[in-house]
Amino acid sequence: MLDFLIQFRVRTRYKCTNSFLESQKIFFDLENKEKENIFVDVYVHEKTSEMQNHPTLSPAKYFKRFVLSCLPILILSGIFAHPEFPQNGDFRVKAFHVDLRVQVMKMPALMKLAKHLQQEGINTIIMEWEASYPYQKEAVISNEFAYTREEIKKFIDYCSQLKIDVIPLQQTFGHVEYILKNYKYAALREDNKDFSQVCPTELDKNKALFSGLIEDMISLHRSPYVHIGGDETFLLGHCAKCQKKVAESSLSKLYFDHIKMICDLVVSFGKKPVLWADIALNYPEFIHLLPKETVFVDWNYGWEMDRFGDHQKLVASGYEIWGAPSIRSEPDNFYIEKWEHHFNNITTFIPEARKLNYSGIVMTSWSTSGAYSTVFDSNEDPLLLFPVRRVYPLSGFNLLIDAYTTAIKSKEPLDAGKFIITYCKENYGFNDANATQFKRALWMTPYPVIRGTIKERENFPLAQLIDSAAKALQLFVSLKPQKNAAEFDHYILMSEIRLFYLKVFQAEADMNAEQFNADTRGVFYQRLLQLQTTSRYLSRRFEKLNKDFLYPEEIRKENALRNFKLDDLMGKVRTRIDFNPKN
Ligand SMILES: [Zn+2]
Repeated sequence: MLDFLIQFRVRTRYKCTNSFLESQKIFFDLENKEKENIFVDVYVHEKTSEMQNHPTLSPAKYFKRFVLSCLPILILSGIFAHPEFPQNGDFRVKAFHVDLRVQVMKMPALMKLAKHLQQEGINTIIMEWEASYPYQKEAVISNEFAYTREEIKKFIDYCSQLKIDVIPLQQTFGHVEYILKNYKYAALREDNKDFSQVCPTELDKNKALFSGLIEDMISLHRSPYVHIGGDETFLLGHCAKCQKKVAESSLSKLYFDHIKMICDLVVSFGKKPVLWADIALNYPEFIHLLPKETVFVDWNYGWEMDRFGDHQKLVASGYEIWGAPSIRSEPDNFYIEKWEHHFNNITTFIPEARKLNYSGIVMTSWSTSGAYSTVFDSNEDPLLLFPVRRVYPLSGFNLLIDAYTTAIKSKEPLDAGKFIITYCKENYGFNDANATQFKRALWMTPYPVIRGTIKERENFPLAQLIDSAAKALQLFVSLKPQKNAAEFDHYILMSEIRLFYLKVFQAEADMNAEQFNADTRGVFYQRLLQLQTTSRYLSRRFEKLNKDFLYPEEIRKENALRNFKLDDLMGKVRTRIDFNPKN
């Protein structure tokens, strides 16, 4: 008997299966017109028990019968094998997602990252340029950190030399504040106050805008793919026109009519559309409207597969799927990095994506939440966008980047403990005991704080969280790396920022308590002054460690926003006399 056999998988717009016998059944059950839309994937597979157990026909006979029965269609369609699907359990697309909504990277730092990723086996980078892209015709969208078109060309040339495919990400539904804040596009807003999303009933206007933006992206990128976003359309069905359409059809139809228009645009440019899968999981009814070239990215940052909806419906849709874990995501913030959580996500989700036969894997790394708070100058005029949630820059996350690249090189789940020991030995010259201390410090009490109360851990006072943050910092400082001290400094700075920020939270909690009043506020002055001294020291450190990574103006913004809460508290305890230098 054969140990392995060649297996077919039939995918149609409606069904997909890995089962040999089921494939055959689906094929024969299809109406003739549907057979025009089949894809037959051929790949080597271990023999299955259902074949061994079949009472009358040997696997060889089944194989022969299936090939003969499919042959006319195979010849007609000219498709014998689909290269999108993984061979031998490996991912064909090994991608890293770069989010430049905030913390726009200096070009040499971006190229250095590409080089490092290539050396570690990555073959694709998904660039979420957002407003850092130098739009040609719709130039009002580009921001102060926009690269020049020559810089982008140079980056893509460089990546081509490295054999890295650079996929542009152009948001086309939600997460489009950076476009819609410009009143040129006001007619497309789903809501004038929350303009995170275009109104999907404005199909013609949307088509005109996104056709131009996608064409602009394609003009500088060579990738066969365009990522069109499509995630977190929180306002789906919000405006009166959308509500009417939903009443007549459904939220799924509302979503997919718009996404189909965008996908068709991408296909008309000779490219394949890629989109996040959360809304399709939530409202899968009309998923089949999308062109067969569409690729879904199933992002899972450590939750149940059915978190957004029935996962099996996505798998059965027949579309190509890539998986996406994360190394920086909610609730990571100024004062919190959930190292252990991200290691667990890598350890569990990557094997899961292999098991599901996903043909690609994308590591996401969010610089911010993707949501913005808006400052309005008048009821109608948005002035500023403040990103909600800011995370330490990617400069501090080489450890997790390498954990990811190590995990996708191996068929076995990553052993985080062993990986950290090896990484620490190679990169910092640590012995096992040092590496264990390092991991202990990284893992320590990463709990979010909401209104002075610890989330995710009951009966854990803020003061105790501050103690543990101080302990973690002590551990980091006690470790003396033999090499790569500059990289190691990022952990120390992250830890210092964490301790500082938790102390600001403590001051804020005390000032929100009953005992804080006009007579007692002076008591806080010295305490906040000390924190202000620390904040200035941290800002200098942040600038020093990130000056090659971020533009000076980005560094200034990061420092200003991180100190905003403290500055606000200072304003409450300071008297006007404090402003007078003579006093
Ligand atoms: Zn609408």
